[in-house]
Amino acid sequence: TSVIDWTKSDAYHNSFLIPKDEVMEFALKNSIDKGLPDIAVSPAQGKLLNLLAQSVGAKHILEVGTLGGYSSIWMGRALPKDGKLITLEINETHAKVAGENFAKAGLGDKCEVILGPAYESMIGLRPKIPFDLVFIDADKRSYPKYFAEAKRLVKKGGVIIVDNVVRYGQVNDMSVNDPDTVGIRELLAYIKQDKEVEATTIATVGERAFDGFLYAIRK
Ligand code: SAM
Repeated sequence: TSVIDWTKSDAYHNSFLIPKDEVMEFALKNSIDKGLPDIAVSPAQGKLLNLLAQSVGAKHILEVGTLGGYSSIWMGRALPKDGKLITLEINETHAKVAGENFAKAGLGDKCEVILGPAYESMIGLRPKIPFDLVFIDADKRSYPKYFAEAKRLVKKGGVIIVDNVVRYGQVNDMSVNDPDTVGIRELLAYIKQDKEVEATTIATVGERAFDGFLYAIRK
């Protein structure tokens, strides 16, 4: 079988569907310049998050795992004038860089980073209005507890999206037992017994290689 360059495939599609974007380029470059790891969602995935947020008319969005705020900016752009995105980050440098990137994107008032361990931040949240959309993209070993809290925080009919649930097929390979992979398996088992959510995994391939999103609705 021939080796397919999925980065090239993404670049080809993006050349039609995602215009050149100085704000996004700044966010990525500023993050790399400040030493953040290169692990943000891809442009195509970022745009999918934006489109999903628009599709559900999201006004209140919660993100778990900010990094430099790249995915936050994609989703933040889908918000109406009075919309708000809260994003949770444990690393002080990441949170600071995200703040710079939000300011550059003109999203300084709409996007807010809460610094600290995400689970502690989540259990402390008592929003007057529940979230329309939650995007989980932090330490995978904690996904079951993030998902449980996300369910508490999202409105009925709201959406929870979880990133990196396929991990090159390691999740279904029982010889792989690192805590992050196990975290995804536990999340799947949790969702199976939970009658209040419906979910599906969409495996993806692209510049971020083989992985997948889990898309869930809180019934
Ligand atoms: N969503 C970002 C994007 O696509 O632009 C990428 C997020 S990156 C994959 C994961 C982030 O989660 C890192 O910035 C990391 O510092 C943060 N993180 C890891 N463990 C955490 C925890 N316990 N609480 C909060 N954030 C955490």
